[in-house]
Amino acid sequence: MSARVVMNASAPLAPTVRTTCPYCGVGCGLLAQPDGRGGAAIAGDPAHPANLGRLCSKGSALGETVGLEGRLLHPMLRRTDGVLARSSWTQAFDQVAHGFRAIIERDGPDAVAFYLSGQLLTEDYYVANKLMKGFIGSANGLRSPVSAAPSGPTPCRAPTRISISPT
Ligand code: SF4
Repeated sequence: MSARVVMNASAPLAPTVRTTCPYCGVGCGLLAQPDGRGGAAIAGDPAHPANLGRLCSKGSALGETVGLEGRLLHPMLRRTDGVLARSSWTQAFDQVAHGFRAIIERDGPDAVAFYLSGQLLTEDYYVANKLMKGFIGSANGLRSPVSAAPSGPTPCRAPTRISISPT
């Protein structure tokens, strides 16, 4: 076999990985088949007790979000001419902090709210709530209804359960 043939041969696919959907607290089991280009084909894991192979629309589309194309990989700030331009983290944090400070000075701390995604980890909730309650001075930390957070309002997962229930 020539070296040219070897170089053009398809690389063997990586083995399928059993993993868990990160999107909500239901925790459906997934089978992820890496495609060798940074992406993966996603299917429900028939052996997982949470979903028995079924996935909702979010989990089914997970493979489309694995690659880096189209992702925001560094901070971007809008210049005075309206064009988005790459910035440093320090510049981005300063701009966000100044924006919050201006809003709070003008309208008070309750003019600020955080929407905390159900995809956040417990540690993320802790930090966000510390920032909101301890530094901003409000309790406006709003949780996603599919949040898996252990404290706060009871998450409602009924829509998710309905979406993956057998028809
Ligand atoms: S219900 Fe949907 S979003 Fe939640 S873990 Fe399952 S596939 Fe993921």
